[in-house]
Amino acid sequence: MKDLFGGVEGGGTKFICAIGPDAHNILAEDRFPTTTPQETLDQVIGFFRKHDNLAAIGIACFGPLDLRLDSPTYGRLLSTPKAGWSGADLLGRLRQAFQIPIGLDNDVNGAALGEHLWGAGQGLDTFIYLTIGTGIGGGVFAQGNLLHGLLHPEMGHIPLPHDRARDPFEGTCPFHGDCFEGLACGPAMEKRWGQRAESLPEDHPAWDLEASYIAHALASYIYSISPQRIIVGGGVGSVPHMLKKVREYTRSLINGYIPSRSIQDEIDRFIVPPGLGNRAGVAGALALARQAFQKDL
Ligand code: ZN
Repeated sequence: MKDLFGGVEGGGTKFICAIGPDAHNILAEDRFPTTTPQETLDQVIGFFRKHDNLAAIGIACFGPLDLRLDSPTYGRLLSTPKAGWSGADLLGRLRQAFQIPIGLDNDVNGAALGEHLWGAGQGLDTFIYLTIGTGIGGGVFAQGNLLHGLLHPEMGHIPLPHDRARDPFEGTCPFHGDCFEGLACGPAMEKRWGQRAESLPEDHPAWDLEASYIAHALASYIYSISPQRIIVGGGVGSVPHMLKKVREYTRSLINGYIPSRSIQDEIDRFIVPPGLGNRAGVAGALALARQAFQKDL
């Protein structure tokens, strides 16, 4: 019999709990609105109490999270604009309730690990998972492990060339204004064009500008991290006609400098949508559970 894992995908509007041996076999699932940490985590714990045969639990949650092992606030949310959640002790609450291994990471790192196990990152040892939606975030899987470093990468906040003659929009990032996220996340598109990104027609100039920003970011990641693949997901990132443009612009920006077939001839397989589609979040949580279980063996 296969080991059963529990996964929690913690989001700003809802928490999704699932149980299964892997991302393709979910045996039970439930979702709860994100209210207070006390109430939401009580519901999460109640869900898993109904299943007493779990090998481990994984939590893939919105951040920022304190993931420094030597920190007194390890496993808690750091300062977050989500009301009431700053300092919430995610790991502590779950550890108090369950005496099994519990893994915790941010949602994009979880999604990267899920894609590595069951999706578009299978067989690779270094790749990037980038999500472009309400915000922009990236997880880096580097030489077989999720990259954490000082805290964790913040790939949505890199500076980009911003031609104000072409795009006078000042950007939406409260910290940087016109960083990548400030120029290219869903809310930035909506503010710039006066309508939601998903309602913009395929021939709208918004998509060309969006693809060009994303391509500049991807070129920077390719130069600095040398990924074997870049997975682009999220509500804006996964629009197929835009991803096609992103590939063309990325190859053109790199201009032959990286002597790899992946970029020169096979960019369709190098910049790809998530293999797990919109299941990446739950898959990520199950992947973190599996990782916690294996580390504990
Ligand atoms: Zn920023």
